[in-house]
Amino acid sequence: MLQLAAVAAVFGQTALPTPERPRGRAKVAAITPHPLGGCNMGDTVENGVVDHKGEVFGYRNLYVADAAIIPEALGVNPSRTIGALSERIAKIIAMEGR
Ligand SMILES: Cc1cc2nc3c(=O)[nH]c(=O)nc-3n(C[C@H](O)[C@H](O)[C@H](O)COP(=O)(O)OP(=O)(O)OC[C@H]3O[C@@H](n4cnc5c(N)ncnc54)[C@H](O)[C@@H]3O)c2cc1C
Repeated sequence: MLQLAAVAAVFGQTALPTPERPRGRAKVAAITPHPLGGCNMGDTVENGVVDHKGEVFGYRNLYVADAAIIPEALGVNPSRTIGALSERIAKIIAMEGR
């Protein structure tokens, strides 16, 4: 935790112990050993790359179904959440017959 705190300080952030979630997100920013995001899920193209189905805004049938769609650090180990989201996206694709 001490090393993580030092790294966080370099970026002007505060390291929080895993699995504690950040409280009062506006006040406390966490860094994580489990980097997520890159193709964030959002409501619109203004705030995300993919929608809740993992489909890229403006690109029909182009899907992202991995850690990249989770928009922020979860504060806990992420693999089950990643797996659940990926399974959900696969089911939706199958149900919609694409
Ligand atoms: C050492 C370590 C320990 C971890 N421990 C935990 C833990 O205890 N609990 C937990 O919840 N999470 C843990 N994680 C994190 C977890 O493993 C990742 O967050 C998760 O696997 C990310 O899933 P993903 O599907 O996004 O990517 P990945 O699981 O990395 O899957 C990406 C896949 O894409 C393939 N690929 C990459 N490039 C190409 C390409 N060009 N063409 C085709 N295929 C490609 C790769 O071979 C890989 O199979 C750990 C990670 C590491 C490294």
